[in-house]
Amino acid sequence: MPEVHFEVDVERPPDDQPGDNPFNRWHPEIEPVISVEPGETARLECLDWTGGQIRDNDDANEVRDVDLNQVHYLSGPVEVEGAQPGDLLKVTLLDIGPLNDRWEYGFTGIFSQQNGGGFLTDHFPDAAKAIWDLDGTYVSSRHIPDVYYEGKIHPGLIGTAPSQELLEEWNEREQELIDKHEEDPESIHNHPTGESEPPVASPPTEDGALPGEATGDSADRIATEGARTVPPREHGGNCDIKDLSLGSKIYFPVFVEGAKFGIGDLHASQGDGEITFCGAIEMAGYVDVKFELVKGGMNKFGVDHPIFEPGHRGPNFSDYVVFEGYSVTEDGEQHYMDPHVAYRRAALDAIDYLTKFGYTREQAYMILGTVPIEGRQSGIVDIPNACSTLALPKAVFEFDVSPDALEEHGGQGQVPITDDPLS
Ligand code: ZN
Repeated sequence: MPEVHFEVDVERPPDDQPGDNPFNRWHPEIEPVISVEPGETARLECLDWTGGQIRDNDDANEVRDVDLNQVHYLSGPVEVEGAQPGDLLKVTLLDIGPLNDRWEYGFTGIFSQQNGGGFLTDHFPDAAKAIWDLDGTYVSSRHIPDVYYEGKIHPGLIGTAPSQELLEEWNEREQELIDKHEEDPESIHNHPTGESEPPVASPPTEDGALPGEATGDSADRIATEGARTVPPREHGGNCDIKDLSLGSKIYFPVFVEGAKFGIGDLHASQGDGEITFCGAIEMAGYVDVKFELVKGGMNKFGVDHPIFEPGHRGPNFSDYVVFEGYSVTEDGEQHYMDPHVAYRRAALDAIDYLTKFGYTREQAYMILGTVPIEGRQSGIVDIPNACSTLALPKAVFEFDVSPDALEEHGGQGQVPITDDPLS
Protein backbone atom coordinates (compact mmCIF):
# COMPACT_ATOMS: atom_id res chain seq x y z
CA MET A 1 0.00 0.00 0.00
CA PRO A 2 1.37 3.44 -0.92
CA GLU A 3 2.06 5.89 1.89
CA VAL A 4 -1.02 7.82 3.05
CA HIS A 5 -0.24 11.45 2.19
CA PHE A 6 -3.66 12.92 3.00
CA GLU A 7 -5.73 11.49 5.82
CA VAL A 8 -9.35 12.27 6.71
CA ASP A 9 -11.46 11.74 9.82
CA VAL A 10 -15.07 11.30 8.68
CA GLU A 11 -16.35 11.87 12.22
CA ARG A 12 -14.89 15.37 12.41
CA PRO A 13 -15.99 18.55 10.58
CA PRO A 14 -14.18 19.22 7.28
CA ASP A 15 -12.57 22.39 8.69
CA ASP A 16 -11.30 20.63 11.79
CA GLN A 17 -9.43 17.62 10.46
CA PRO A 18 -6.56 16.06 12.39
CA GLY A 19 -4.06 16.78 9.60
CA ASP A 20 -4.40 19.18 6.69
CA ASN A 21 -7.90 20.46 5.98
CA PRO A 22 -9.44 19.90 2.54
CA PHE A 23 -10.04 22.86 0.24
CA ASN A 24 -13.18 23.73 -1.74
CA ARG A 25 -12.30 26.46 -4.23
CA TRP A 26 -9.98 26.62 -7.28
CA HIS A 27 -7.36 29.35 -6.95
CA PRO A 28 -3.63 29.52 -7.81
CA GLU A 29 -2.75 30.72 -4.29
CA ILE A 30 -3.99 27.64 -2.43
CA GLU A 31 -0.74 26.25 -1.03
CA PRO A 32 0.27 22.64 -1.64
CA VAL A 33 0.21 20.45 1.46
CA ILE A 34 1.87 17.46 -0.20
CA SER A 35 4.92 17.32 -2.44
CA VAL A 36 5.75 14.34 -4.68
CA GLU A 37 8.43 13.61 -7.25
CA PRO A 38 7.48 12.54 -10.77
CA GLY A 39 7.03 8.75 -10.72
CA GLU A 40 5.79 8.67 -7.13
CA THR A 41 2.47 7.13 -6.00
CA ALA A 42 0.50 8.64 -3.12
CA ARG A 43 -2.60 7.43 -1.30
CA LEU A 44 -5.02 10.30 -0.76
CA GLU A 45 -8.08 9.86 1.43
CA CYS A 46 -11.15 11.95 0.63
CA LEU A 47 -14.25 13.04 2.53
CA ASP A 48 -17.50 12.60 0.64
CA TRP A 49 -18.35 15.68 -1.46
CA THR A 50 -20.64 17.18 1.23
CA GLY A 51 -18.18 16.65 4.09
CA GLY A 52 -20.49 14.31 6.00
CA GLN A 53 -23.77 16.25 5.67
CA ILE A 54 -25.65 13.13 4.48
CA ARG A 55 -25.69 10.12 6.77
CA ASP A 56 -26.76 6.48 6.73
CA ASN A 57 -30.45 6.94 7.64
CA ASP A 58 -33.83 7.18 5.89
CA ASP A 59 -34.17 10.97 6.19
CA ALA A 60 -34.39 12.70 2.79
CA ASN A 61 -34.48 16.13 4.48
CA GLU A 62 -30.69 15.94 4.75
CA VAL A 63 -30.56 16.12 0.96
CA ARG A 64 -33.15 18.90 0.84
CA ASP A 65 -31.13 20.98 3.33
CA VAL A 66 -27.54 20.38 2.16
CA ASP A 67 -25.41 23.52 2.30
CA LEU A 68 -24.10 23.68 -1.27
CA ASN A 69 -21.78 26.63 -0.60
CA GLN A 70 -19.47 24.23 1.22
CA VAL A 71 -18.93 21.79 -1.62
CA HIS A 72 -16.84 20.07 -2.87
CA TYR A 73 -14.26 18.99 -0.29
CA LEU A 74 -10.99 18.22 -2.08
CA SER A 75 -7.82 16.53 -0.90
CA GLY A 76 -4.52 18.22 -1.66
CA PRO A 77 -3.26 20.33 -3.31
CA VAL A 78 -0.42 18.04 -4.38
CA GLU A 79 2.67 19.74 -5.74
CA VAL A 80 4.50 17.70 -8.37
CA GLU A 81 8.14 18.73 -8.33
CA GLY A 82 9.33 20.29 -11.58
CA ALA A 83 5.85 20.79 -13.08
CA GLN A 84 5.69 24.00 -15.16
CA PRO A 85 2.88 25.73 -17.06
CA GLY A 86 2.60 24.07 -20.49
CA ASP A 87 3.43 20.59 -19.16
CA LEU A 88 0.90 17.80 -18.89
CA LEU A 89 0.44 16.06 -15.56
CA LYS A 90 -0.10 12.36 -16.18
CA VAL A 91 -2.14 10.76 -13.42
CA THR A 92 -2.74 7.01 -13.20
CA LEU A 93 -5.55 5.82 -10.91
CA LEU A 94 -4.02 2.65 -9.48
CA ASP A 95 -6.67 1.89 -6.88
CA ILE A 96 -9.86 3.42 -5.45
CA GLY A 97 -12.03 2.14 -2.61
CA PRO A 98 -14.23 3.01 0.35
CA LEU A 99 -12.79 3.58 3.84
CA ASN A 100 -13.95 0.18 5.00
CA ASP A 101 -13.05 0.60 8.64
CA ARG A 102 -14.57 4.08 8.92
CA TRP A 103 -17.24 4.66 6.25
CA GLU A 104 -19.24 1.75 4.87
CA TYR A 105 -22.06 3.33 2.91
CA GLY A 106 -22.79 5.42 -0.16
CA PHE A 107 -25.68 7.79 -0.85
CA THR A 108 -27.63 9.07 -3.83
CA GLY A 109 -29.84 12.13 -3.70
CA ILE A 110 -32.49 13.67 -5.84
CA PHE A 111 -31.98 17.35 -5.14
CA SER A 112 -34.96 19.63 -4.68
CA GLN A 113 -35.61 22.29 -7.28
CA GLN A 114 -34.92 24.96 -4.64
CA ASN A 115 -31.50 23.51 -3.75
CA GLY A 116 -29.42 22.16 -6.62
CA GLY A 117 -32.07 20.66 -8.87
CA GLY A 118 -30.97 18.12 -11.47
CA PHE A 119 -31.42 17.01 -15.04
CA LEU A 120 -35.14 16.25 -14.62
CA THR A 121 -35.85 18.69 -11.79
CA ASP A 122 -39.16 19.86 -13.30
CA HIS A 123 -40.38 16.24 -13.12
CA PHE A 124 -38.79 15.57 -9.71
CA PRO A 125 -38.99 18.84 -7.72
CA ASP A 126 -38.70 17.21 -4.26
CA ALA A 127 -35.72 15.76 -2.43
CA ALA A 128 -35.27 12.00 -2.05
CA LYS A 129 -32.41 9.81 -0.89
CA ALA A 130 -31.15 6.23 -1.21
CA ILE A 131 -28.44 4.63 0.93
CA TRP A 132 -26.17 1.99 -0.61
CA ASP A 133 -24.16 -0.78 1.01
CA LEU A 134 -20.62 -0.96 -0.32
CA ASP A 135 -19.23 -4.48 -0.57
CA GLY A 136 -15.82 -3.84 -2.09
CA THR A 137 -16.79 -2.55 -5.53
CA TYR A 138 -20.24 -4.24 -5.38
CA VAL A 139 -23.28 -2.18 -4.39
CA SER A 140 -26.87 -2.74 -3.26
CA SER A 141 -29.49 -0.56 -1.58
CA ARG A 142 -32.25 -1.21 0.96
CA HIS A 143 -34.12 1.61 -0.80
CA ILE A 144 -33.91 0.11 -4.31
CA PRO A 145 -34.76 -3.63 -4.27
CA ASP A 146 -33.44 -6.27 -6.68
CA VAL A 147 -30.47 -4.28 -7.91
CA TYR A 148 -26.96 -5.62 -7.24
CA TYR A 149 -23.91 -4.96 -9.37
CA GLU A 150 -20.24 -4.10 -9.59
CA GLY A 151 -20.00 -0.32 -9.61
CA LYS A 152 -17.92 1.84 -11.93
CA ILE A 153 -15.80 3.39 -9.19
CA HIS A 154 -14.13 6.74 -9.95
CA PRO A 155 -13.41 10.25 -8.68
CA GLY A 156 -16.11 12.74 -9.75
CA LEU A 157 -13.74 15.65 -9.29
CA ILE A 158 -10.07 15.72 -10.28
CA GLY A 159 -7.86 18.46 -11.67
CA THR A 160 -5.05 20.97 -11.50
CA ALA A 161 -5.10 24.59 -10.29
CA PRO A 162 -5.84 27.44 -12.72
CA SER A 163 -3.45 30.33 -13.33
CA GLN A 164 -4.66 33.75 -12.16
CA GLU A 165 -5.35 34.63 -15.79
CA LEU A 166 -7.42 31.50 -16.43
CA LEU A 167 -9.31 31.97 -13.16
CA GLU A 168 -10.28 35.50 -14.22
CA GLU A 169 -11.44 34.17 -17.59
CA TRP A 170 -13.66 31.58 -15.86
CA ASN A 171 -15.21 34.10 -13.51
CA GLU A 172 -15.84 36.57 -16.32
CA ARG A 173 -17.47 34.17 -18.77
CA GLU A 174 -19.66 32.53 -16.10
CA GLN A 175 -20.82 35.91 -14.79
CA GLU A 176 -21.71 36.90 -18.37
CA LEU A 177 -23.95 33.83 -18.60
CA ILE A 178 -25.65 34.68 -15.29
CA ASP A 179 -26.25 38.29 -16.42
CA LYS A 180 -27.54 37.21 -19.81
CA HIS A 181 -29.94 34.76 -18.23
CA GLU A 182 -31.26 37.36 -15.80
CA GLU A 183 -31.93 39.78 -18.67
CA ASP A 184 -33.49 37.15 -20.92
CA PRO A 185 -34.39 33.79 -19.34
CA GLU A 186 -35.48 32.48 -22.74
CA SER A 187 -31.92 32.86 -24.02
CA ILE A 188 -30.97 29.67 -22.24
CA HIS A 189 -33.54 27.56 -23.94
CA ASN A 190 -32.68 24.25 -22.36
CA HIS A 191 -32.49 25.40 -18.75
CA PRO A 192 -34.96 23.05 -17.08
CA THR A 193 -37.23 25.65 -15.55
CA GLY A 194 -36.49 28.71 -17.70
CA GLU A 195 -36.05 30.62 -14.44
CA SER A 196 -32.99 31.14 -12.28
CA GLU A 197 -33.87 28.30 -9.95
CA PRO A 198 -31.77 26.25 -9.93
CA PRO A 199 -29.21 28.89 -10.99
CA VAL A 200 -27.43 28.67 -14.35
CA ALA A 201 -23.93 28.97 -12.83
CA SER A 202 -22.26 29.24 -9.41
CA PRO A 203 -20.24 32.47 -9.00
CA PRO A 204 -17.58 32.76 -6.26
CA THR A 205 -18.88 33.16 -2.73
CA GLU A 206 -17.06 33.67 0.55
CA ASP A 207 -19.79 31.71 2.26
CA GLY A 208 -18.39 28.32 3.26
CA ALA A 209 -15.05 28.83 1.48
CA LEU A 210 -12.15 26.72 2.73
CA PRO A 211 -8.85 28.17 1.45
CA GLY A 212 -6.71 25.20 2.51
CA GLU A 213 -3.74 26.33 4.59
CA ALA A 214 -3.79 29.92 3.29
CA THR A 215 -4.20 32.75 5.82
CA GLY A 216 -4.59 36.55 5.85
CA ASP A 217 -4.99 38.46 2.55
CA SER A 218 -4.37 35.36 0.53
CA ALA A 219 -7.20 33.49 2.28
CA ASP A 220 -9.48 36.49 1.64
CA ARG A 221 -8.63 36.53 -2.07
CA ILE A 222 -9.24 32.79 -2.36
CA ALA A 223 -12.63 33.16 -0.69
CA THR A 224 -13.77 36.16 -2.74
CA GLU A 225 -12.47 35.19 -6.19
CA GLY A 226 -11.83 31.43 -5.99
CA ALA A 227 -13.78 29.50 -8.62
CA ARG A 228 -16.51 27.22 -7.36
CA THR A 229 -15.86 23.53 -7.85
CA VAL A 230 -19.24 22.87 -9.47
CA PRO A 231 -18.47 22.68 -13.23
CA PRO A 232 -15.75 20.91 -15.18
CA ARG A 233 -13.35 23.28 -16.93
CA GLU A 234 -10.05 23.27 -18.88
CA HIS A 235 -8.18 21.89 -15.85
CA GLY A 236 -10.50 18.91 -15.31
CA GLY A 237 -12.57 19.67 -12.23
CA ASN A 238 -16.04 18.26 -11.61
CA CYS A 239 -16.23 16.33 -14.87
CA ASP A 240 -18.17 13.37 -13.37
CA ILE A 241 -16.90 10.97 -16.03
CA LYS A 242 -17.63 7.43 -14.90
CA ASP A 243 -14.94 6.05 -17.22
CA LEU A 244 -12.15 7.64 -15.15
CA SER A 245 -12.19 4.35 -13.30
CA LEU A 246 -9.57 1.88 -12.08
CA GLY A 247 -6.44 1.86 -14.21
CA SER A 248 -7.26 5.05 -16.14
CA LYS A 249 -4.45 7.33 -17.28
CA ILE A 250 -5.41 11.01 -17.43
CA TYR A 251 -3.36 13.93 -18.78
CA PHE A 252 -4.13 17.32 -17.23
CA PRO A 253 -2.86 20.68 -18.46
CA VAL A 254 -0.52 22.36 -15.97
CA PHE A 255 -1.26 26.07 -15.47
CA VAL A 256 0.81 26.87 -12.35
CA GLU A 257 4.16 25.79 -10.98
CA GLY A 258 3.89 22.43 -9.25
CA ALA A 259 0.49 21.77 -10.93
CA LYS A 260 -1.33 21.85 -7.53
CA PHE A 261 -3.47 18.78 -8.11
CA GLY A 262 -6.68 18.17 -6.15
CA ILE A 263 -9.16 15.29 -6.01
CA GLY A 264 -12.43 14.36 -4.29
CA ASP A 265 -16.12 13.56 -4.77
CA LEU A 266 -15.49 9.81 -4.99
CA HIS A 267 -18.24 7.74 -6.57
CA ALA A 268 -18.81 4.01 -6.04
CA SER A 269 -20.70 4.11 -9.34
CA GLN A 270 -22.48 6.49 -11.71
CA GLY A 271 -24.38 6.50 -14.98
CA ASP A 272 -23.44 8.77 -17.90
CA GLY A 273 -24.80 12.22 -17.11
CA GLU A 274 -24.99 11.80 -13.31
CA ILE A 275 -28.56 12.83 -13.98
CA THR A 276 -30.00 13.23 -10.48
CA PHE A 277 -27.29 15.88 -9.74
CA CYS A 278 -26.07 14.02 -6.65
CA GLY A 279 -26.67 11.19 -8.99
CA ALA A 280 -23.74 8.97 -8.27
CA ILE A 281 -23.23 6.67 -5.31
CA GLU A 282 -21.35 9.23 -3.23
CA MET A 283 -18.79 8.06 -0.73
CA ALA A 284 -15.74 8.87 1.33
CA GLY A 285 -12.76 6.75 0.33
CA TYR A 286 -9.15 6.51 -0.77
CA VAL A 287 -7.46 6.77 -4.12
CA ASP A 288 -3.92 5.71 -5.06
CA VAL A 289 -2.55 8.16 -7.60
CA LYS A 290 0.66 7.84 -9.58
CA PHE A 291 2.02 11.21 -10.73
CA GLU A 292 4.19 11.68 -13.84
CA LEU A 293 5.06 14.64 -16.08
CA VAL A 294 5.11 15.16 -19.84
CA LYS A 295 7.35 18.19 -20.23
CA GLY A 296 5.90 20.65 -22.75
CA GLY A 297 3.04 18.18 -23.20
CA MET A 298 0.31 20.71 -24.03
CA ASN A 299 2.14 21.68 -27.23
CA LYS A 300 3.45 18.19 -27.92
CA PHE A 301 -0.04 16.64 -27.76
CA GLY A 302 -1.85 19.71 -29.12
CA VAL A 303 -4.29 19.76 -26.20
CA ASP A 304 -5.52 22.43 -23.80
CA HIS A 305 -8.09 20.22 -22.08
CA PRO A 306 -7.56 16.87 -20.29
CA ILE A 307 -7.42 13.67 -22.31
CA PHE A 308 -7.50 10.14 -20.93
CA GLU A 309 -7.18 6.44 -21.64
CA PRO A 310 -9.81 4.47 -19.67
CA GLY A 311 -8.75 1.44 -17.64
CA HIS A 312 -10.05 -2.05 -18.35
CA ARG A 313 -11.00 -3.36 -14.95
CA GLY A 314 -14.73 -3.22 -15.49
CA PRO A 315 -17.48 -3.82 -14.89
CA ASN A 316 -17.75 -4.76 -18.55
CA PHE A 317 -21.42 -5.22 -19.36
CA SER A 318 -22.50 -6.67 -22.69
CA ASP A 319 -26.32 -6.81 -22.76
CA TYR A 320 -28.47 -3.70 -22.68
CA VAL A 321 -31.97 -2.36 -23.13
CA VAL A 322 -31.51 0.89 -25.06
CA PHE A 323 -33.86 3.88 -25.05
CA GLU A 324 -33.91 6.46 -27.87
CA GLY A 325 -34.67 10.14 -27.49
CA TYR A 326 -35.10 12.93 -30.05
CA SER A 327 -34.92 16.68 -29.63
CA VAL A 328 -38.64 17.21 -29.18
CA THR A 329 -39.79 18.16 -25.66
CA GLU A 330 -42.43 16.30 -23.63
CA ASP A 331 -44.85 19.07 -24.67
CA GLY A 332 -44.18 18.43 -28.34
CA GLU A 333 -42.00 21.46 -28.95
CA GLN A 334 -39.48 20.93 -31.74
CA HIS A 335 -35.90 21.87 -30.84
CA TYR A 336 -33.11 22.11 -33.37
CA MET A 337 -30.45 19.41 -32.90
CA ASP A 338 -30.46 19.65 -29.11
CA PRO A 339 -28.81 16.64 -27.40
CA HIS A 340 -29.85 17.90 -23.96
CA VAL A 341 -33.53 17.61 -24.90
CA ALA A 342 -32.91 14.30 -26.69
CA TYR A 343 -31.17 12.72 -23.67
CA ARG A 344 -34.00 13.92 -21.39
CA ARG A 345 -36.53 12.12 -23.55
CA ALA A 346 -34.49 8.92 -23.51
CA ALA A 347 -34.18 9.17 -19.70
CA LEU A 348 -37.90 9.83 -19.21
CA ASP A 349 -38.76 6.77 -21.35
CA ALA A 350 -36.34 4.63 -19.37
CA ILE A 351 -37.99 5.81 -16.13
CA ASP A 352 -41.48 4.98 -17.43
CA TYR A 353 -40.24 1.56 -18.55
CA LEU A 354 -38.75 0.74 -15.13
CA THR A 355 -42.00 1.66 -13.38
CA LYS A 356 -43.62 -1.24 -15.30
CA PHE A 357 -41.47 -3.57 -13.19
CA GLY A 358 -42.78 -2.05 -9.97
CA TYR A 359 -40.26 0.67 -9.22
CA THR A 360 -41.42 4.13 -8.18
CA ARG A 361 -40.40 6.96 -10.48
CA GLU A 362 -37.92 8.19 -7.85
CA GLN A 363 -36.33 4.74 -7.60
CA ALA A 364 -36.09 4.52 -11.40
CA TYR A 365 -34.48 7.99 -11.60
CA MET A 366 -31.88 6.99 -9.01
CA ILE A 367 -31.19 3.71 -10.81
CA LEU A 368 -30.34 5.68 -13.96
CA GLY A 369 -28.12 8.03 -11.96
CA THR A 370 -26.07 5.28 -10.35
CA VAL A 371 -26.00 2.24 -12.64
CA PRO A 372 -23.24 2.57 -15.29
CA ILE A 373 -25.67 3.41 -18.10
CA GLU A 374 -24.05 4.35 -21.41
CA GLY A 375 -25.29 7.71 -22.70
CA ARG A 376 -24.49 8.22 -26.37
CA GLN A 377 -24.79 10.96 -28.91
CA SER A 378 -25.98 8.67 -31.67
CA GLY A 379 -26.96 11.13 -34.41
CA ILE A 380 -26.11 14.84 -34.66
CA VAL A 381 -26.63 15.59 -38.37
CA ASP A 382 -30.21 14.61 -39.21
CA ILE A 383 -32.15 17.87 -39.10
CA PRO A 384 -34.04 18.81 -37.02
CA ASN A 385 -33.56 16.03 -34.47
CA ALA A 386 -30.50 15.13 -32.46
CA CYS A 387 -30.72 11.47 -31.44
CA SER A 388 -29.45 10.43 -28.00
CA THR A 389 -29.50 6.91 -26.62
CA LEU A 390 -29.42 5.61 -23.07
CA ALA A 391 -28.27 2.01 -22.66
CA LEU A 392 -29.31 0.26 -19.46
CA PRO A 393 -27.17 -2.82 -18.59
CA LYS A 394 -29.43 -5.79 -17.91
CA ALA A 395 -27.04 -7.59 -15.56
CA VAL A 396 -27.49 -5.07 -12.73
CA PHE A 397 -31.03 -6.33 -12.06
CA GLU A 398 -31.78 -9.55 -10.21
CA PHE A 399 -34.65 -10.25 -12.63
CA ASP A 400 -35.09 -10.15 -16.39
CA VAL A 401 -35.57 -6.52 -17.38
CA SER A 402 -35.94 -7.25 -21.10
CA PRO A 403 -39.04 -6.34 -23.16
CA ASP A 404 -39.70 -10.08 -23.69
CA ALA A 405 -40.03 -10.64 -19.94
CA LEU A 406 -42.33 -7.66 -19.59
CA GLU A 407 -44.54 -8.87 -22.43
CA GLU A 408 -44.89 -12.32 -20.87
CA HIS A 409 -46.23 -10.71 -17.72
CA GLY A 410 -48.77 -8.59 -19.53
CA GLY A 411 -46.89 -5.37 -18.91
CA GLN A 412 -47.48 -5.69 -15.17
CA GLY A 413 -43.88 -6.38 -14.24
CA GLN A 414 -42.69 -8.94 -11.74
CA VAL A 415 -40.84 -7.08 -9.02
CA PRO A 416 -42.73 -7.26 -5.72
CA ILE A 417 -41.83 -3.83 -4.42
CA THR A 418 -44.29 -3.19 -1.61
CA ASP A 419 -42.88 -0.37 0.46
CA ASP A 420 -41.76 3.04 -0.63
CA PRO A 421 -39.04 3.94 1.84
CA LEU A 422 -38.09 7.11 -0.01
CA SER A 423 -41.04 9.28 0.79
ZN1 ZN B 1 -20.36 13.31 -6.62
